[in-house]
Amino acid sequence: MCGIGACLSLLNDNVAPKIVKMLMNLEYRGYDSAGIAVIDSLGKIHVKKGVGRIHNLAETLRFNEMEGHIGIGHTRWATHGSVTDYNAHPHIDCGNNIAVVHNGIIENYTDIRERLISLGHEFKTQTDTEVIPHLVEEKYKEKKSILESLREALTELRGAYALVLITSHEPDKIFFARFFSPLVIGISNNDIYIASDIPAFLQWTRRVIILQDGDYGFVSADKIYIRNLYDPAVKGREIITVEWTKEMAAKGGYRHYMLKEIHEQPESVKRTVRMASKQIGDVINLIEKANYIYFVAAGTSYYASVHGQYAFAKYGIRSRAVIASEFLEEVGAFLDKDDLIIGVSQSGETADTLKAIRFAKKKGSKILAITNVVGSAITRLADRSIIMGAGPEIGVAATKTFTSQVATLDYIALNWARTHGFDVDLLISKLLNIDKDMEWVLEVNEEKAIKLSEVLKEKNNAYYLGRGLGLSIALEGALKMKEIAYIHAEAYPAGESKHGPIALVTEGFPIFSVVLRDETYHRMHIAIEEMSSRGGFIISVTEKNDSDTIKLSDFNFCAPDNYSNILAPLVYVIPLQLVAYYTAVKRGLNPDRPRNLAKSVTVE
Ligand code: GLU
Repeated sequence: MCGIGACLSLLNDNVAPKIVKMLMNLEYRGYDSAGIAVIDSLGKIHVKKGVGRIHNLAETLRFNEMEGHIGIGHTRWATHGSVTDYNAHPHIDCGNNIAVVHNGIIENYTDIRERLISLGHEFKTQTDTEVIPHLVEEKYKEKKSILESLREALTELRGAYALVLITSHEPDKIFFARFFSPLVIGISNNDIYIASDIPAFLQWTRRVIILQDGDYGFVSADKIYIRNLYDPAVKGREIITVEWTKEMAAKGGYRHYMLKEIHEQPESVKRTVRMASKQIGDVINLIEKANYIYFVAAGTSYYASVHGQYAFAKYGIRSRAVIASEFLEEVGAFLDKDDLIIGVSQSGETADTLKAIRFAKKKGSKILAITNVVGSAITRLADRSIIMGAGPEIGVAATKTFTSQVATLDYIALNWARTHGFDVDLLISKLLNIDKDMEWVLEVNEEKAIKLSEVLKEKNNAYYLGRGLGLSIALEGALKMKEIAYIHAEAYPAGESKHGPIALVTEGFPIFSVVLRDETYHRMHIAIEEMSSRGGFIISVTEKNDSDTIKLSDFNFCAPDNYSNILAPLVYVIPLQLVAYYTAVKRGLNPDRPRNLAKSVTVE
């Protein structure tokens, strides 16, 4: 949540325009307010901040006119203190000498705040963040070194933080620290950047340092100084070059990132499968040895994990998908060293998932991470990782990372199956060449999605039904509709209708039905008939020649034939993504910026 963007120019240029650009690139992380602080040539700090979207604020507050070749910026996703101009970051100390922006939550801020108030500090905001500049200010009185003051301050903070700090005491540096919330450094010939995520500065550099938990330090024109609070052996971090390109993180002519990312799926899935084939190594062995397998994930990644559970079950692998935030209570008591935890997280930084994985690690369980981001926190905790090739996903609602997660899990399941005597050669070759079929699905269903969105834009509710391998598709379809079109959408196993949900069905109630031609087929038809006879408006997603289901439907989306198997989500989910997207647009909403949501949920 929230975006941090800081820049130090090596050419003595004003950095505010670049920081604005970085914040725009990061706005998907949080966006209720924003602000920038720079240091001018006399070493004085200037702060501008306010409520609103970054591009509006850039105009009204004239961010670009701020002068200084060192600066920090923030887009906020409020956790403590309402959304006001004051509560927007940066926050400053009493002497106006220290400015801080922060992502995360300082859990013990009330205690620190009270102590600092008793020492004479004056607070101007309700945020947890404001304790940081005051605490560093307090330490500085004695230490006379910002690095030392920051280090001491950090040892008192509980919770999660990624932060950057500028100070008139040492005006040639940007200080930083990371614990739990992500922070990366980018290095180009012209500037040094510090940001929450790589797409912030991808247009200028692909050379990156991924900071780790406990890292703190500073950047200056001639130095990147990194130490670690817990590991005295750390004297710096490796610079890596990421493969993502600036085009991958740009909108490329599409009206929204989400639509672009939906259309990228044929390519991103293909790339992901290729990458999985190079990384699979001893993963099958890990599965083999596991007594029990738990998937742990949140949101869309959880639905991909539900698919993983069903796909594994097809080949006799016993596993269970658990929502990360419930993991401790649900299965914590049963974990041991013979279990395998498969952590699925797009960013690799999802706080709930990390917490569950840390817990499992303590119990001695093995960890396999599936993520989109090299070097992310989850990969460092894991015994083995598979990095997906989805590329940067900027739209808040996950699309191409869902299909990449499904493709990775399918690839694992199929490889396991092959080594255990199942005849899966056809499915493997289908997965390796799935891009053509995905393209076909996009082509055939896009106009239909636009048409259906005209009907759906007036609706307040929808059900999404699926059974077996269709269930995760229904779950993910409903989540998209909720997230971006704000239509209350509920997905559940179709057989549950008569145990409650059918009570809501009246004339015209939209019922999305994911129908696979497998052993669930006839039972899905029963569910559809039950809904239809109560006036439900049946929108089916079927294989294209499934005329029996099409006859039962008021509206139909189609997938290619022969996808009623573990590859189903890769083609079936696309129409559901498209219809959510177009319904949001028809309702006048911005699908890339759903209210109250942020990508990479790095707070619990
Ligand atoms: N806890 C801080 C606040 O509410 C930072 C939130 C964020 O990560 O955006 O201001």
